[in-house]
Amino acid sequence: AKAAGKGEIRFFDPEMQEVISQRLLLEEDIVRGLHAGEFNVYFQPQFNDDGGMTGTEALVRWHHPERGILAPGAFIEVAEAAGLMNQIDHVVLQRSCEQMASWARLEAFSNVTVSVNISSIQLYQPGFVQEVLNILQQTGANPALLKLELTESMLLTDMPQAISRMRLLKQSGIRFAIDDFGTGYSSLHYLQQLPLDQLKIDQSFVRGLPYDSNSLAIIRAIIAMAKSLELEVIAEGVETEAQRAILLNNGCRLYQGYLFARPGQASDVEALVFEAAEH
Ligand code: C2E
Ligand code: CA
Ligand code: CA
Ligand code: CA
Repeated sequence: AKAAGKGEIRFFDPEMQEVISQRLLLEEDIVRGLHAGEFNVYFQPQFNDDGGMTGTEALVRWHHPERGILAPGAFIEVAEAAGLMNQIDHVVLQRSCEQMASWARLEAFSNVTVSVNISSIQLYQPGFVQEVLNILQQTGANPALLKLELTESMLLTDMPQAISRMRLLKQSGIRFAIDDFGTGYSSLHYLQQLPLDQLKIDQSFVRGLPYDSNSLAIIRAIIAMAKSLELEVIAEGVETEAQRAILLNNGCRLYQGYLFARPGQASDVEALVFEAAEH
């Protein structure tokens, strides 16, 4: 890169130029992919300590015609910066609710929840509450089985507004989880004010188990917090039997992670459930 002189804007830094054009290409490709219906949803099962499936988390995937199946890490940042995340989130919510309505016909799925990740832009968008209610009505999905995952930082952006939207949705039976819990600034005082149902222990703490004492201390504090607030607590990113065992010993009875199942298509989740029912 050549040094910029006084007052000179470095439009022609070739490396910078390359990064910018890559982002623009990706942005155009996302728009194209949205129109072509290439964004779809994978589901990752969640289990209780008896091995029963209690829920699934909806995770967006881009079925790219040339690059294969892409996880959010490959496009979410650019989609957010380009203001395209609300469109992607809309597709995810729609697809998730369609799947819920279809699973409602199966006995084995009668109590299985579907958790959907909500982005900050989406939560604070003017029509958000109506958007969710419309999709539920139009798909016929049971609102009581829908869980929306929010993050601490998102809620802190405008707590009064977030709370009022959550309350409106809660009137229809929709539940709420705080995702990546433990990485933000939550105090009991602030948590008490939110109409929550579940805390999700961030996978960075689970990763430290069973040996890292700091991770364990944080996990114990989260579980104690959940107990005192009467919230469900689930651990994500559970990869080993040792991690599951120590979580159980400390009172965490819900798990999500590669130890149990990777995210997959709806049909994969069904196969897993029916296989388990045979044993
Ligand atoms: P997240 O909400 O924390 O989702 C959990 C991520 O951990 C997923 O990655 C999942 O595939 C991965 N994971 C699950 N079990 C394990 C495990 O045992 N070990 C490890 N190492 N990883 C595990 P994914 O699908 O790549 O999603 C990454 C992030 O992208 C999500 O993190 C979430 O923040 C965001 N995201 C995913 N789908 C959506 C969506 O539809 N809308 C929005 N707004 N964000 C989404
Ligand atoms: Ca999540
Ligand atoms: Ca998470
Ligand atoms: Ca995350």
